Amino acid sequence: MKCTRCRAKAEVELRSHNAGFCRPCYLFYFRRQVERAIAAEHMFTHEERLLVAVSGGTDSLALWDVLAEGGYRTTGLYLGLGIGTYSDRSHDKAVKFAEQRGLELRVVSLREEGPGLAVPDIAAATRRVPCSACGTMKRHYFDTAALAGDFDVLEDLTQAESLECLRKAVSALPEAYREVVVLCELEEMPYLEAAAVLKCSPGTIASRLARAKAMLKTKLRVQGCVR
Ligand SMILES: [Zn+2]
Repeated sequence: MKCTRCRAKAEVELRSHNAGFCRPCYLFYFRRQVERAIAAEHMFTHEERLLVAVSGGTDSLALWDVLAEGGYRTTGLYLGLGIGTYSDRSHDKAVKFAEQRGLELRVVSLREEGPGLAVPDIAAATRRVPCSACGTMKRHYFDTAALAGDFDVLEDLTQAESLECLRKAVSALPEAYREVVVLCELEEMPYLEAAAVLKCSPGTIASRLARAKAMLKTKLRVQGCVR
């Protein structure tokens, strides 16, 4: 197969895109895809400071690399989970990666945060599977590190667990409020159209939506889904 961009020998084949790329063209393509996604989703700007949580694995380090190369203001965050030699190895990888590129890396070690805070200890104490304990601990420490370093915290509602929380919270809203959330937020219907559907004024839509969001926020916070 030949590179879709330059016709050299392709090293990577992307069947889903019906394309193939040589090494330099793949990097070009990958970086451009990331830039486009950041712009399309209005994720962040070059002025904002980004705290990139890295595990030491290839996915998160590739993300950090592409953001730093793209000129974003990044700081890495490595959370030492205290899972034996696995944690030591991933720590070394993250440190080496940062050193090679002259990037700032913050390291938080759960074991040093307090006795019994390493993931295996938490899993044993709460009798939950390690992945569950790990996910909860990570989210807490990511938020804490972001707030302490004065980063903007993006609510992480992409986790399946959080989405489930949100779904439950929405379905528990009183009907009049649930309707506006579904129409205006989930279906992204303009207030005027939603007002016509629900046979009330756009002002009522706006105030119900504001009230519904406040109720959701409280509910999610009480359940520990968001800060
Ligand atoms: Zn090429």
